[in-house]
Amino acid sequence: MRNLYIDFDGVVCNSIEVTYKLMEEEGIDRSNFDECEAYYRRLDWNEVLSRVHIINGAIECIRKVVDSHKFDVAILTHVNSINEIVAKVNFISEYFPDLTLISVPKEISKTKMVCTKDAILIDDFPQNLVEWKEAGGYGIRFDLDMDGKGFPVIDRLDQILTNPDILNH
Ligand SMILES: [Mg+2]
Repeated sequence: MRNLYIDFDGVVCNSIEVTYKLMEEEGIDRSNFDECEAYYRRLDWNEVLSRVHIINGAIECIRKVVDSHKFDVAILTHVNSINEIVAKVNFISEYFPDLTLISVPKEISKTKMVCTKDAILIDDFPQNLVEWKEAGGYGIRFDLDMDGKGFPVIDRLDQILTNPDILNH
């Protein structure tokens, strides 16, 4: 089975949008890099994940993809704190008691945490896909406007089960 890594923020749920809302509520200046970085380190991710919505049936879609037995599925997510790891693991385990979640410290590339050769990454952040491709993997952009930015694009996770370009790659 082929390894399939699915990003969390902006693919499974709208967590980043929620963090922007929280920052606005707290008067954090989003254009100030240091202030943002400090904010993300102390952010309460239980609060964030209590406010998110699931994007385009992502949970049912992941279930379908897992049940298809076509891919070995794991969540691959960038994190800024231990609190964020714990909250994300608890969130995913509520839906999937046995799905692997790999946390990647924000400072390093997702390509450094797992074997990328021929593995698929579904991610909404183009830079992650560029790095993935350079490291020998196959990147798919998740984007609600279906803008692939040079990559195959989907706006529902179960589309990878039916997209011939992806399946035959
Ligand atoms: Mg993302």
